Amino acid sequence: MNRLDTILDKDRLDPDDLAVLLGADTPAKQASVLDAAYAVKIREVGPVVYFRGLFELSNLCSKDCLYCGIRRSNQKLERYTIPIDEILSGARWAWEQGYGSVVLQSGERSDPAFVDLITELVTKIRALSHDQLAITLSVGEQSEETYRTWFKSGAERYLLRIETSDPELYRRLHPADHSWERRRDCLRLLHSIGYQLGSGVMIGLPGQSVEQLARDILFFEQERVVMIGMGPFIPHADTPLRDAIRNFAWKRHAQLALALRTIAVTRLYLPDVNIAAATALQALAPNGREQGLMAGANVIMPNLTDPKYRSAYQLYDGKPCVDESATQCRGCLEGRIASLGETIGFGQRGDSRRFLRRNAAGADGAASC
Ligand code: SAM
Ligand code: SF4
Repeated sequence: MNRLDTILDKDRLDPDDLAVLLGADTPAKQASVLDAAYAVKIREVGPVVYFRGLFELSNLCSKDCLYCGIRRSNQKLERYTIPIDEILSGARWAWEQGYGSVVLQSGERSDPAFVDLITELVTKIRALSHDQLAITLSVGEQSEETYRTWFKSGAERYLLRIETSDPELYRRLHPADHSWERRRDCLRLLHSIGYQLGSGVMIGLPGQSVEQLARDILFFEQERVVMIGMGPFIPHADTPLRDAIRNFAWKRHAQLALALRTIAVTRLYLPDVNIAAATALQALAPNGREQGLMAGANVIMPNLTDPKYRSAYQLYDGKPCVDESATQCRGCLEGRIASLGETIGFGQRGDSRRFLRRNAAGADGAASC
């Protein structure tokens, strides 16, 4: 048996195994890693995909991350914030369709008007769905008071990607006033408040190694992350990192393959977490998200943002489905998921099993929500 097969044969991976699996360098080895992860997914979370309806609430952002298409300094964008009533009618539609959860995502703002907007949306979405729709927030770094206010209003899950667990790499991707330590502290705060904690990284960042990706997966474990949303880094033409990966067009296949392997190795190491098949996978291949599901992901985020806003929320070049309505998006995804032999968890919240198990065991002191 070769080293890779010996590792895949283990009941429990060791931290040192992760970089070996991530570095699998032949199609046959890569397929073995993905197949093993799919088997673990079926055993641990079943052939069920959970939908989280995504609202790209606003592209106003006070930050300036060097990779992001909606960064503060990008003046080529028309900035928008979707009116409350439009979000509420979209959330009602999602609830009526049987979606178990919605995600409110936007650029980062911390002014009182924004804090109040999120509080109002959370309160009203919980009310209109009779507390059935679980709400995930993905609106960046905030104060403890703000995180507590939103949690009390009914938001139970929070997604804040650490982007990379390597502080030095983080510094190369952000202006000097952005802080990796602050972001990590926000994750700790969110966990201590009782949120179901989501995080993730970008995969294939300029200068990133498989050893760093392996440490990212260990970081998720260490910081008690139970929902993971990670996807390939894709350059955006109007950002400072537009040319950070030379000849990106030729490297799309390798970028996708590394992203899929990272999903797979995460599933192998943390079998009971929720993992999203990020939309960015589909920017690299038309069936990228389905490939993500076959690599071990079990969550998809159908876009519920009205098409009139979508083109102004382009984080990276080639964002897919910019002119598809929520109904088209649902229909298209249903067909794709059925073709894999999986079902959609309509009418289910799809909480992270790792989170439920931890809370049941009272293992890490997180408040129950
Ligand atoms: N502003 C919030 C934040 O940063 O946490 C939430 C929205 S932000 C647009 C969501 C994620 O988009 C970021 O965490 C980042 O990983 C991802 N993203 C931004 N630019 C990207 C790019 N060029 N390629 C891939 N992902 C990107
Ligand atoms: Fe703003 Fe988030 Fe983009 Fe950074 S990644 S510029 S915080 S929207």
